[in-house]
Amino acid sequence: MIPLFDRFPRLAEALPYVPLGNFPTPVERCDTFGVALGHDAIYIKRDDVSGEPYGGNKVRKLEFLLGKAMRDKRREVLTFGYAGSNHCLATAIYARELGLGSISMLLPQPPSQSLRRNLLLSHAVGAELHHYSSRPAIVCGTLLQLARHQILRGKAPQMIPAGGSSPLGVTGFVNAAFELRNQVDAGLCPEPDLLYVAVGSMGSAAGLLIGLKAAGLKTRLTPVRVIETGMASPEKLARLIARTQAFLRDRDPAFPTRSFVLADCLLRDEYFGDGYGQFTPEDAEAIALIDQTQHVHLEGTYTGKTLAALIGDARRGALAGKTVLFWDTYNSRPVWDATGHVDYHILPGVFHRYFEGALQSLDTQPL
Ligand SMILES: *Cc1c(COP(=O)(O)O)cnc(C)c1O
Repeated sequence: MIPLFDRFPRLAEALPYVPLGNFPTPVERCDTFGVALGHDAIYIKRDDVSGEPYGGNKVRKLEFLLGKAMRDKRREVLTFGYAGSNHCLATAIYARELGLGSISMLLPQPPSQSLRRNLLLSHAVGAELHHYSSRPAIVCGTLLQLARHQILRGKAPQMIPAGGSSPLGVTGFVNAAFELRNQVDAGLCPEPDLLYVAVGSMGSAAGLLIGLKAAGLKTRLTPVRVIETGMASPEKLARLIARTQAFLRDRDPAFPTRSFVLADCLLRDEYFGDGYGQFTPEDAEAIALIDQTQHVHLEGTYTGKTLAALIGDARRGALAGKTVLFWDTYNSRPVWDATGHVDYHILPGVFHRYFEGALQSLDTQPL
């Protein structure tokens, strides 16, 4: 039984859920990394090993979202992301494990090694990939694909929003806070004062903000924005929190609804750089530092920028005396073998541009 259902049994009856991952994920002290920063209480929450064959933060959301697709007897799911989307890849992998097809609706993103790998992996696990140059184009494309798949398969695909951040998906991260609470109670880590997490589609941050309060933890969240303000802002985060709390309250009146004001939803902006998926020098330094000290492998779009915020705060003395937790949201399971040295020409032609142009100079990730 997952910690949220333990605490709120009526949610267990009301919510769709299919176990996909290995939970609880470990929480570990970062000794060597801490020494490099002159800080002795930095911990990491290892959502990078949240599932097999693929970890990362999307597994928590997919347990609920794909649970719903199964309950509703869908045959396929259709979801959205940028071209290198970890969410679309995770969805494709776990949908296939459940016997569901998947369709990924993708928008342009600066090229990188991890983007190339994710496209090849998505193709290898059977995802149907579509690329659109703009938001209006993706809206039209979605209507078309929904109709086409309804005709082909006799049933419309289940739509899953970008990043899996609907109230149902966010519930996975409400549960994550209760999981952390259990680990603190069991003495596996001290109660964190601060928790750093990346903010893309905002579901992880929204779920943690709700869950930390509901679980009675004093931990303050430091959400680090890595995406344009049109996608993530305090106003949008507050709205997602309100929708999720109402969703849970409707299904179990015992679930506490706390008031969140905009001041509770402020996002850290200084590590964003020039754009989503555009790497920064601080980003590259953070990735190298935790790789060398802890052998933890991050990437430049989300986790590198988030860890750069933690490092920056530590260096200016803002973390003195505090217990700090870094939530690792990036998959670390070795998946590349699944595609070996596949030629990108097997992908639809619109994706070839990501393999033919130059990579960003700060892209240090080995393929
Ligand atoms: C999707 C993703 C995030 C962002 O999580 P959201 O819940 O969408 O805000 C962070 N890190 C990685 C590696 C991701 O793939």
